[in-house]
Amino acid sequence: MAMIDEGCRPIVYEKGSGSPVVVVIGSIHGDEPVGAHIVEELKDTDIKNGTLLGVVGHPCGLRENKRFFDTDLNRSFPGKESGGIEEELAHLITKVIKRADYVLDIHSTTTDLKDVVIITGTSKKVKELVNMLEPASAVLVQEGMRERSLIYTVDGAVSLEYGHHDDKQTYTSTMGAVRRVLSKLGMVDDDVADESPTTEYFEVYGTVDRPKNFKMISGISNLKLVKEGDLLGDVGGEKIYAEEDFYPFLFGPNAYEHMMGFKARKIEEL
Ligand SMILES: [Zn+2]
Repeated sequence: MAMIDEGCRPIVYEKGSGSPVVVVIGSIHGDEPVGAHIVEELKDTDIKNGTLLGVVGHPCGLRENKRFFDTDLNRSFPGKESGGIEEELAHLITKVIKRADYVLDIHSTTTDLKDVVIITGTSKKVKELVNMLEPASAVLVQEGMRERSLIYTVDGAVSLEYGHHDDKQTYTSTMGAVRRVLSKLGMVDDDVADESPTTEYFEVYGTVDRPKNFKMISGISNLKLVKEGDLLGDVGGEKIYAEEDFYPFLFGPNAYEHMMGFKARKIEEL
């Protein structure tokens, strides 16, 4: 039996009918309010065709501005009927996203990443979503790198990392991307300009360890090439250099405890 309080369960609304079924889910991390904001705003949209399911993933985390309580929800999928708040949330969310043709999972970040779509494979649906979203970058992350994330649970699910938690532009660009998808699927009447896509593609192939007491230099930009021998930071005055060329992904001074972030390489196409 599920133990989770009524008020902590995912908030779900449904608009329209028939296919395609699109899930827009926000704030599966409680410290990322932008997704919930977008889901709430979309509630007033007229849906001409298909079904829009809006989901606020972690209402209790959001209320307390806490990323998670027991386990990171985005490492808890597909979840369990009982076994901690996030396991149960994941279980409930999985039931909803299983109905979907496409899932847009909205995040925000503490790093300098902007207009990035995270994908888990190169299925037809994922490619369609990337083409509709027209992000600056699409980053392929194989499952072993981020186990039990939402986007590995169903086909046609991608994560949006469009900017910093506290930047107003994050809301604007994420909403623009979500509405572009709804418009291209014929679900809303928006006029969308085709922004001659110039998406760059990357593939994550590993992580960069973070030594204890490591201090990262401020000049590292995500998805900008770091070259072998470039300075990354220091540990008590001892300098740490890059051991190879790579594109940093989700790198930030406080992004993770045990790693600086992920390392990626550029790929020509998906
Ligand atoms: Zn997040």
